[in-house]
Amino acid sequence: MKILFLDQSGTLGGAELCLLDIAAPYRHESLMGLLSDGPFRERLEQQGFSTKVFTTEAIDVRKESGFLKSLSSLGQLFPLVQAVADTAREYDLIYANTPKALVVGAFASLLSRRPLAYHLHDIIASEHFSKINRIVLITLANRFASRVIANSEASQRAFVAAGGRSQLCKVIYNGFHTEQYDLSTLGTAIQAQQLRDSLGLGERFFLVGHFSRLSPWKGQHVLLDAVKQCPPEVVVILVGDALFGEQAYVKQLHEQVDRLELGDRVRFLGFRSDIPELMSACDLVVHTSTAPEPFGRVIVEAMLCGTPVIAAAAGGATELVSPGRTGWLCAENEPSTLAETILNCKASPDQMQEIAQQAKAEALSRFDVNSINRLIQEQLNKIVR
Ligand code: UDP
Repeated sequence: MKILFLDQSGTLGGAELCLLDIAAPYRHESLMGLLSDGPFRERLEQQGFSTKVFTTEAIDVRKESGFLKSLSSLGQLFPLVQAVADTAREYDLIYANTPKALVVGAFASLLSRRPLAYHLHDIIASEHFSKINRIVLITLANRFASRVIANSEASQRAFVAAGGRSQLCKVIYNGFHTEQYDLSTLGTAIQAQQLRDSLGLGERFFLVGHFSRLSPWKGQHVLLDAVKQCPPEVVVILVGDALFGEQAYVKQLHEQVDRLELGDRVRFLGFRSDIPELMSACDLVVHTSTAPEPFGRVIVEAMLCGTPVIAAAAGGATELVSPGRTGWLCAENEPSTLAETILNCKASPDQMQEIAQQAKAEALSRFDVNSINRLIQEQLNKIVR
């Protein structure tokens, strides 16, 4: 099947990492159409994908933008749609992977008469989208998409609650190359120890990892407040960078570290590509989103590494973690409860290990990339005849 994949991002967020895996089986006859340039294109090309950047200017349909802003971008939208539609005629299907890709892909699908699939990686609700953008996305999906693949029940529920047609929607979780997270050999155990040594955090410490782009709703500030309430041996690595220009938040986090006098207990590691190694070196992985997480790849990745995980109790995270069996769920935005949960985990290492092993076994059976890709393939085969 020849697919024109469309993604708005030049950076490597969760939706883009997921797309890399979904698109891999179609790599040789498909094209990755990007609406902005950046490290995502470089990663795609390294992995043998053909890519085409359709615009060098970012289109101004931000998640939080209002009606006027959306309208002002129509001038840019038309030539873009035309260019995508011209390209789409050479493919069997348009696969829109992000909201802006849906906007462009929907009109391109109309012009090129090619079917459209939309992979919904978002919770279309007021926490994440302005009212006008919710209306635009739902209307376009209802009118033009032959299938909406939702990354969780939570994303599907929000889609339907916002007016999306439920019969369009199919929930398929993200898939993972599970073997890449299994670092339980002696060599990698030594590597993990070297990593811990290199952090310069002293001899004996309890390492809590947070893996996410730095963004207010990802809640790194909640973890810092929680750590302040824990004894000094509890230390933190914040892995990830501000991918969408949230520099003010990064500054705020550094100020918070200074204000709370946590300078010797917190390390900012920036964007990293050695996630399995880093997660395996942690005693605990913590996820602290303050708005419902559509899926939460980092939660599954921690499970696959065999590292215990505490997640914020909302959205897709509640479908990934069974509290007390495969991890812990903690109320969003509550540093004291989080601190208490971290300390309970620290105090019961045997229970932590048992839960982490149960989580690993479950993640291995639920999120294998080949099984997930077969489910996607079945859906696409129904659309392209
Ligand atoms: N990630 C990464 N390097 C980093 C931080 C995060 O590769 O420094 C990856 C992480 O392993 C996960 C993805 O980025 O696969 C984030 O996906 P998630 O669903 O957790 O959040 P999203 O970015 O989609 O909101």
